[in-house]
Formats: sequence, C-alpha cells, structure tokens
Amino acid sequence: MAKFYLTSAIPYVNAAPHIGHAQEFVYSDVIRRFRMLLGYTVTYLCGADENALKIVQAAEKAKQNPQEFTDIHQKEFLDLAQKLSVHFDIWQRGTDQIHHFASSQKLWKLCEKNGDIYKKSYTGLYCVGCEQFYPKEELNEHGECYEHPGRKLEQVSEENYFFSLSKYQSFIENLLESDTLKILPKIRKNEALAFVRRGLEDFSISRSTKRAKGWGVPVPGDSDQIMYVWFDALNIYQTGIGFGYDQTLFDTWAGQDCMVIGKGILRFHVVYWPAILTSAGLPLPKSCFSHGYLTVDGQKMSKTLGNVVDPMTIITKYGSDAVRYYLLKEIPSYSDGDYSERRFKEVYNSDLAGGLGNLVARVAKLAEKASSLNTKTYNYKVVCKDVCKTELEEFRFNDALANIWKKMKEADQFIDTNEPWKLEGKGLTRIIEDASNRIVEIATLLEPFMPDTSSKIIKQFTSKKIISGPALFPRII
Ligand SMILES: [Zn+2]
Repeated sequence: MAKFYLTSAIPYVNAAPHIGHAQEFVYSDVIRRFRMLLGYTVTYLCGADENALKIVQAAEKAKQNPQEFTDIHQKEFLDLAQKLSVHFDIWQRGTDQIHHFASSQKLWKLCEKNGDIYKKSYTGLYCVGCEQFYPKEELNEHGECYEHPGRKLEQVSEENYFFSLSKYQSFIENLLESDTLKILPKIRKNEALAFVRRGLEDFSISRSTKRAKGWGVPVPGDSDQIMYVWFDALNIYQTGIGFGYDQTLFDTWAGQDCMVIGKGILRFHVVYWPAILTSAGLPLPKSCFSHGYLTVDGQKMSKTLGNVVDPMTIITKYGSDAVRYYLLKEIPSYSDGDYSERRFKEVYNSDLAGGLGNLVARVAKLAEKASSLNTKTYNYKVVCKDVCKTELEEFRFNDALANIWKKMKEADQFIDTNEPWKLEGKGLTRIIEDASNRIVEIATLLEPFMPDTSSKIIKQFTSKKIISGPALFPRII
C-alpha cells in the first residue's frame, strides 16, 4: 500500500499556541485526511521543540524548571489539536532522552564520520528568538532580525562545532532546481534557490554547555558542548519514526513525503536539513509546503500589541469546523492572510450559516415531505478528481473550497429552478433525491476540511428517512 509520511514544523513550546499554530495544524490535517481518502497509509508527525535557550529563559521567567515548564506548554498544543479535530499519529518530544537524545547523537556521529563536523571559534550576532546567528546584511536598519523587530541581538563569541554546509552547495542547488525536493509555492522555491546561490556557509551546530545552561542534547564525546537546537529539532522528524532505536519502523517511513512549515523557517528545512541527511547517508524529504503568516486585524501578532489570538477561545465560541473553514478558505494558502473577528463573523454568516447550513436545512425540510428516498453514497477518490484533487495536491486549500462552494451554488440553483415546494408525490421525490445526492456529494468532498460537519450531513442524508436537524451553523449576530 502506498505510504505517506507527513510532518509539520515542531513548535517551540515556550508559550501557549496562537492562531498561527492552529492554521498549520489544520493545513496538515487536511493533507493527512486527503491522502488517507485517496488510499494512502499516512503517518503524520508533529512534536515539541523543547531544547532551545529561549525555553530556558521563558522557564526562568515563569519561575519553573525547564522540564516542568515544557510539560505544561507542550500539553496545550496537544489540547489545541484535539479541539480542532487534528490527529497526530506521532507526537515526539525533544526532551525524550531515551529516544530523542540517542537518535540525535546517532545523526551527529554519522555526519562526523563523513568528515562534516569540525570545531572552530566563532563570533557573531545571535538572535535568541530565532536561535540563529545572522550576518549584518540580513538585519534591518536597527540591526535587528526581521522576525523579531525590537529585540537586540547578542554578540556571541565561543568555540562551536560547525557543519560543512558549503560542501553541499551544488548538491542542494540541484536538489531544489530539479524539484527532487519540490517546494510549493514557487515563490518559496525561488527564495530558497536565491539563498543557496548567494553561497552556502558552514554553520554552527553546537553551543557551549554553559551558555545553553546545560539544557539540550549533549554532543557525543564533548561534555562542554550541547547540540544547537535546530540540529536536534529537525531530527525530531526522524526520532518519531524510530531512528536510532527501531530500524524497521524507520525504514518503513524515512524520507518525508511532505513537510508543512511557515515561510520563516524555509532554509532550515530545504537547505540545512537535506544537507545534514545527505551527509549522514539518510533518505531525504520529497516535498515542502511553505505557508505564509497570519496577521490580526492587519497587524503582526505580538504580545506587546496585545493582539495574540487564542485559538481555543474562538473554537469554543464558534466550533472547530467553523475555525477550520476560516483558516482554509479565507487565508490564501500561498500567501499571508489576516484574522479578524469581524471578518470571521462575515465569512461564517455568509458561507456557513447562509451557504452550506441553509442548503442543508432547506433540502432536509422538503425531504420530510417526500417518501421512499433512495440517496447514494460517493467514493471520495472519484468525486474529488474533477473538483479539488489537483488543488489539494498543490496545497491550494482555498481554491479547493471555492470549487466545492461552486457546486453548492449549483445545488441551490437546481432547487430554485425546480421549485420542489410546488410538487408532490413522485415529482417531489425525484427532485429531492437529486438535491440530496448533491448534498451528499458536497459533504463527501468536505471531509478533509470539515470532518465533523461532513459526517453529520452524510449521516442525515443517507438515512432511510431524512429529517430536519438543528442548524449546522446558527447565524451569529
Ligand atoms: Zn529573530
């Protein structure tokens, strides 16, 4: 059976999840469900990035030890996923010493054996927010990184281990150019290629144990050094599938079929990661979907502005499928998008209460009058082909939903044209059967996007006797 190994970015669990995390979880969950419906055996892995220096700092601030601190926060991510009907097949934590430390040390040793790890002293500007050194030309006019404006970079001078990335310059360039590692959207592919063509430099993959405050994966054979958080965080993608402790499991899944990530961490995933894997002689990722960022009311989300949206609040208020719909339909998956409660209500009322909810209620009501209906069920593989298969393969979720909504409009028009409320007997049955089948087809297509709503509708319209239910999406005032 065809297999599909899907991963989404491993979030830092230094604070509660925000709506951007919800978006990425939902994107990945749609891909997971879509592939399963196509007949693939899917493993979807996510996890908790817990070994960063900023975790230690955040824990200090909260007056907790880092382990307690990450125990609490990683759970919030799991709760969010559950509330969004997002299913992780594997949740791999970075603090899992038994599996993850051993797995990361194995990766390190393989790269070392291949001659790609060496020690040198280094001085540079370090952003703790990104856990990354930046050259001056990649900073803004205040000398701050673009991800964390307002935060001063630290001048750091220490002896670290480096990875010979420069050795893989042409290999990575070919990998991306040939789409052997296919990046979508294309703008991100071009961005990654431009970065590679500027010339790849070796990068530091360890920190002094002292500066890392002893928190993280120890470098094998050198107790003064801890692995740089990205080196071990990326390896979570392998730890979760058995690397270093279950070879059979690892051989089954190794080589990510798809990595879902935000645009800010592109180079780590499509440049550093495949280079490390190649050095270690391990299977490479095959594709990468890099999505944009969410603003809130047109502004960047920030604690200072106080506009960080807690996804739990809106899910509780409006329901998981409504939030999924907004994130998938209103935010173009290839670019940045905006969340605002005002817009959320507009979209909810027009597309969900008005569009889908209204169509379902309308036909169910008429169906109560019709007798002996014979509705069909639909095979997802067959119906998605003409409506949204390509769109989903290319992660264009908003386009896929637009196509499904077009079908919904057609169903509405079909009812308006045939005026079943004027009909009785066989005439009525024929029209209602047709309309019900259209609804079941639409609900089948909606399964990856709005799983709860989809199954509710299918259940209602494939019963022997269709009866009206409560409003799927009561209008919000
Ligand atoms: Zn930064």
